[in-house]
Amino acid sequence: MSDANALNATRRTVELMALADGDPVDVVVIGGGITGAGVALDAVTRGLRVVLVEKHDLAFGTSRWSSKLVHGGLRYLATGNVGIARRSAVERGILMTRNAPHLVRAMPQLVPLLDSMGRGQRALVRAGFVAGDVLRRLAGTPSAILPGSPPDPAGAVLDLAPTVRRDGLDGGLLAYDGQLIDDARLVTAVARTAASYGARILTYAAASRVTGTSVRLTDQRSGESFDVSRAR
Ligand SMILES: Cc1cc2nc3c(=O)[nH]c(=O)nc-3n(C[C@H](O)[C@H](O)[C@H](O)COP(=O)(O)OP(=O)(O)OC[C@H]3O[C@@H](n4cnc5c(N)ncnc54)[C@H](O)[C@@H]3O)c2cc1C
Repeated sequence: MSDANALNATRRTVELMALADGDPVDVVVIGGGITGAGVALDAVTRGLRVVLVEKHDLAFGTSRWSSKLVHGGLRYLATGNVGIARRSAVERGILMTRNAPHLVRAMPQLVPLLDSMGRGQRALVRAGFVAGDVLRRLAGTPSAILPGSPPDPAGAVLDLAPTVRRDGLDGGLLAYDGQLIDDARLVTAVARTAASYGARILTYAAASRVTGTSVRLTDQRSGESFDVSRAR
């Protein structure tokens, strides 16, 4: 990575001092989770002067403790939100093929079929997996990156889940979704990309007294505070 996206103590000090001296700002993003990092990247690539402040370290909050699934939209399809489902599948494909292929991998999801499962239940799971596959295809994600749902994965069941109960086992259904290797690394990567475009990413800086035009920033290291106002 080049120096442009390096986040270090020297850069932080220089940027905090510039802000305290009244450097102009268009947008202050509060919170260095995945939402804040994404907003900062979006804003800075539109040409806005961006400051992101995080009162702890990047990905200190929920974004570090997610289940690490990169959903392909199936859950939204189940509730009838077709548009969101399609967008989720597209975003998953972008992450897996272009933006973060080093951080997202295909994760197999196996539903073992037991004698006790009725036809209706089996058909429902199978239909869901087929729908997920349709979303993947519509999003243009290659099966080499994210395999489709195989019609008969019988041989794979015990390979994938050797400790599954064998009594009454009658094959299984298999589908793939995206899985983040590390959710905090994704946040850091997005924040550093924003920094490479010129966003100021300030950790250990807390926001308070937020109005539509100004915000108070407190350096959590030194305890010093100053106000930042929107450029006119
Ligand atoms: C148990 C669980 C599992 C999940 N699993 C998944 C999943 O598998 N896949 C998925 O896509 N989503 C999942 N989610 C949802 C996902 O994790 C959240 O939608 C996402 O992390 C929210 O990110 P955020 O940036 O909005 O919030 P956060 O990550 O919480 O970031 C907010 C940040 O703001 C900072 N902050 C707060 N106040 C201030 C202040 N005054 N000044 C400066 N900084 C401040 C906090 O320190 C924090 O770092 C899961 C959520 C939970 C709870």
